[in-house]
Amino acid sequence: MREIYPWQQAFWQKLLHSRRFWGHALLLKGKQGAGKYDFARRLAQSLLCTEPAAGLQACGRCASCGWFEQSGHPNFYQIVPEAFSAVTGESAEKEESDDKSGTATKKSASQQIGIEQIRKLNDFVYLTGHQSGFKIVLIYPAEAMNTAAANALLKKLEEPPPDVLFILVTHQAQHLLPTIRSRCQQLAMPLPDVAASVAWLRQQGVNDPDECLAAAGYAPLSALQLAKGGDAQSLEQFIRQVADPKRLDPLQLAEALQQSSLPVVVNWLQKWCYDLISYRTTGKVRYFLKQLPAIQTLSNQLNPLACGAFARELNNKQKLAHHPLNPRLFLEDLFIAYAAMTQQR
Ligand SMILES: [Zn+2]
Repeated sequence: MREIYPWQQAFWQKLLHSRRFWGHALLLKGKQGAGKYDFARRLAQSLLCTEPAAGLQACGRCASCGWFEQSGHPNFYQIVPEAFSAVTGESAEKEESDDKSGTATKKSASQQIGIEQIRKLNDFVYLTGHQSGFKIVLIYPAEAMNTAAANALLKKLEEPPPDVLFILVTHQAQHLLPTIRSRCQQLAMPLPDVAASVAWLRQQGVNDPDECLAAAGYAPLSALQLAKGGDAQSLEQFIRQVADPKRLDPLQLAEALQQSSLPVVVNWLQKWCYDLISYRTTGKVRYFLKQLPAIQTLSNQLNPLACGAFARELNNKQKLAHHPLNPRLFLEDLFIAYAAMTQQR
């Protein structure tokens, strides 16, 4: 059974006690890797539980909880991009895994939520359901809805079906239609501070929690995924090569990483360049704590203007990374450009 993360406890209490103000739609927003998806699932399960325990948390024993955890509850409907289910093999999985667990399957599956997925809701909200009662729709991540899907959902939010609660979860609320945002009760999800994140990661058996947390951009679930998932090795390989650009072999590195999620790899390079620039200007690094000596050396050799320009170019690359024609070529270009940047004086 999914637990509420320690940094969400107080938020949970507050939320559950303000239930009469929810309206028919909640928008849970916050940083990717903060545990929003797990929270939303837990919330849905608890609201459907017939014998909620103290703190209004799902009991984990009643028939309703059983359905929710195993086959799916008839009064619960979850909408995620096809790519999300393809990666996880279930209707959905751990929070925030969408930007890190790249596989071949994932690349062919859609990253978007399409209008058909929203249309299918009609049957659920108007017809089916186990008891006549309350139903919950979870949409994750809400910014994955394409324009048609978002408009279709908006119609539902404008004329909300009775006894249905929509829970939208988003990492990028600014990418949602303002009209959707305004029809939801917007809630900023908490993120733990560094000390609390490190303590939690240590409890999860992560050996180098500080480094993992930093490399994952200070989001605890992303850090856990990095430590326990398959990406740790790829990241190490990546760092070994970019830290020593004279010996960097763009073709070989591209080949080694072509099965990885491209947005993730671009993100690594973004963080790496951030640290190079940050060290040059402030003497500090933010993401790659363990690589401080390498960053020190490299940062002093680089042309700061060229590095800044390259970092800005990476923002465009990040947009393209979701739809590459050829992952390997995409990465080759990326690393060749990086190597060239490091040669500029
Ligand atoms: Zn229960």
